[in-house]
Amino acid sequence: MIRLNVDKLTFSYGDADAISEVTLDVERGEFVGLIGPNGSGKSTVLKNLYRALTPDAGGVTLDGGDLFRLSHKQSALKLGVVGQENDVPFDFLVEEIVAMGRSPHKKLFDMDTAWDKQIVHHALEHLGMAGMAKRSYLNLSGGEKQRVLIARVIAQETDFLLLDEPTNHLDISYQLQILDFVKRLRVTVLSAIHDLNMAALYCDRLFVLKAGKIVLSGTPEEVLTPENIHSVYGVQCDTMLHPKTGKLTITYLPGINEPEALITDFKYQ
Ligand code: ADP
Ligand code: MG
Repeated sequence: MIRLNVDKLTFSYGDADAISEVTLDVERGEFVGLIGPNGSGKSTVLKNLYRALTPDAGGVTLDGGDLFRLSHKQSALKLGVVGQENDVPFDFLVEEIVAMGRSPHKKLFDMDTAWDKQIVHHALEHLGMAGMAKRSYLNLSGGEKQRVLIARVIAQETDFLLLDEPTNHLDISYQLQILDFVKRLRVTVLSAIHDLNMAALYCDRLFVLKAGKIVLSGTPEEVLTPENIHSVYGVQCDTMLHPKTGKLTITYLPGINEPEALITDFKYQ
């Protein structure tokens, strides 16, 4: 059953289309990855879906209903978002930021209930941030901020998550921990991911953007062939199914894609 259906979504910041006729679908319970080079339009697609931008053309349905007919509060009850630029303008405590995830469930001026507090505490605990609940958000490291924002989206308790490179600032142990955690939530996920090995490990299906257009889609095994990776990213690699994970893994082969002269002639001044 299709949960999210994006039909010919088109958006431009100025003259040229940043994304053009992007069509994709995410089925209930799937973890779908949006991959593609820097500037290919991943964030633009997601921003149109979480309504930070308004599309020039195209349609989006969520659970069969027109997404753009929902109020922002109704959308927030269905869609949890972790965007890429998340600087909050004022300083808040970590637990206050996470508590904001509860706001779509409440009326204006409602106090936090014991239940809200428990959800906030559990979300922080799951991300190893319980000891930092009273710290100020702005003084955290990039990775800690990222974990707080993921705790916030968990506290929001939606069954669909839109994530824009959610593990960007994190070291490998938190990357794995957070993606494992999201996977265990058994919610439906559409996530931009720039690390192709991570995409292969966690995603059921991938859509590949290049210059604002979807150029490939399918399972990681179908999409992440050395030929496709070369045509989208211009790099050489080998791929194999890892004997322990059973998942596709990519080994990049640097140097092979660059002319020898560029490497050997380079000298620091
Ligand atoms: P990605 O997330 O895949 O790196 P983006 O969606 O951020 O790509 O960007 C897609 C294209 O739109 C890029 O060419 C980028 O320079 C352009 N772009 C992104 N944001 C803006 C903006 N606010 N104003 C103008 N152009 C933008
Ligand atoms: Mg981006």
